[in-house]
Amino acid sequence: LTILGIETSCDETAAAVVRRPADGGTGEILSNIVFSQIEAHAPFGGVVPEIAARAHVEHLDGLISRALKEARLDWDDLDGIAATAGPGLIGGVIVGLMTAKGIAAARGLPLIAVNHLEGHALTARMTDALPFPYLLLLVSGGHSQLLVVEGVGRYRRLGTTIDDAVGEAFDKVAKLLGLGYPGGPALERAALEGDASRFALPRPLINRPGCDFSFSGLKTAVRQLAEGLGRPDDKDKADIAASFQCAVADVLASRTENAMAVANEMIRPGHRRLVVAGGVAANMMLRERLTVSAHAFGYEFVVPPLKLCTDNGAMIAWAGAERLALGLTDPIGTGPRARWPLDADATPARGAGV
Ligand code: ATP
Ligand code: MG
Ligand code: FE
Repeated sequence: LTILGIETSCDETAAAVVRRPADGGTGEILSNIVFSQIEAHAPFGGVVPEIAARAHVEHLDGLISRALKEARLDWDDLDGIAATAGPGLIGGVIVGLMTAKGIAAARGLPLIAVNHLEGHALTARMTDALPFPYLLLLVSGGHSQLLVVEGVGRYRRLGTTIDDAVGEAFDKVAKLLGLGYPGGPALERAALEGDASRFALPRPLINRPGCDFSFSGLKTAVRQLAEGLGRPDDKDKADIAASFQCAVADVLASRTENAMAVANEMIRPGHRRLVVAGGVAANMMLRERLTVSAHAFGYEFVVPPLKLCTDNGAMIAWAGAERLALGLTDPIGTGPRARWPLDADATPARGAGV
């Protein structure tokens, strides 16, 4: 199956062509073009929905043409069109979904309305031969969840954040330290020079039972710490960044360890794998911590390549291919969903056409 994937749910406009072998092996990425709108949003220190939607309109058609050209394919070579149908900023989601519907209708191709989070959740199966079920730590700009991925469209949630998402916490802390936008990579860079042991920051919910997360208290502690320093210099900022990153990694590792204990009841020994996905999965310190935790619990640790962790079209194309292989396609009247939990109804909204 050869699928065009379109991603427009946040601030990257992306198009990709991915091929999934009939026998269900790993995917071949024929093209994967991501246009990041960072420059357009940077002056505002965060994503401005209206600017994002307009930029998607402006760039998407050109990106799709380039994705096909780089893949050396014609429209006739495609088996389906997959687009993010949510969750995300509704204006952007509408742009991508409408475009996909137009192509699907004009070319007589099946439409696959993909949940963006399912795109993150299944990415590791595109690059590694990874059977179901597996434990997933999904850490992105809008979500922080621990799930057992039982199959395509089948997710059992073990825990979620009760306040901020991890990526959001990285972005907010980077902003208050004046490290720039986007915050996650900037904070990780700053932390490289920092001393993580200089400041003692709280580790919310650590060593407590359960798999939920909380990050707002940590964020508040960082703000108070920064304010207490008056005008933190570069060394102070690096030390705060390192301390924050370490606290986050400690919390995520501890909660993931609880989740592995729970998942032991659902996944047989010898088949136990921990996958981390979403933008924050690009963080090197987090990867190292989770590697240690996974091995301590007898889990193999699987993480997609860096550039497939943050938003891209290939992950949407791949999720589309996985769904199409199961005969899961969506009617042209499928509507966009600003909110769309992964463990709820994995089927997109019906009848609310855009
Ligand atoms: P969602 O997937 O929940 O809808 P999103 O699509 O905006 O949200 P992603 O693109 O998956 O999120 O991830 C972006 C987030 O990842 C941002 O919050 C960013 O700061 C964070 N991030 C990216 N790289 C790193 C890094 N190296 N370290 C920490 N955080 C990072
Ligand atoms: Mg983004
Ligand atoms: Fe994402």
